[in-house]
Amino acid sequence: MSIDLTQFAALQKASKASFFEQQKLMKQVMAGKTVLCKTCNQPLKLYTPEQNELTGIRCAKSCTDISLDFV
Ligand SMILES: [Zn+2]
Repeated sequence: MSIDLTQFAALQKASKASFFEQQKLMKQVMAGKTVLCKTCNQPLKLYTPEQNELTGIRCAKSCTDISLDFV
């Protein structure tokens, strides 16, 4: 399983700075590290297509919600 980062970048309307921050966060979550949501301090979870969920990285309250395209 891999992520099309080009597609991911195109989908991001965020500024470059927050894009790089998201990429860093994404890598940490995918490496199995515990990353806490900046808003609610709940651990972020990685959702993959195998889980039949909307793919992405989200916290329990969805204040952090990063969509990912799995290809
Ligand atoms: Zn949150």
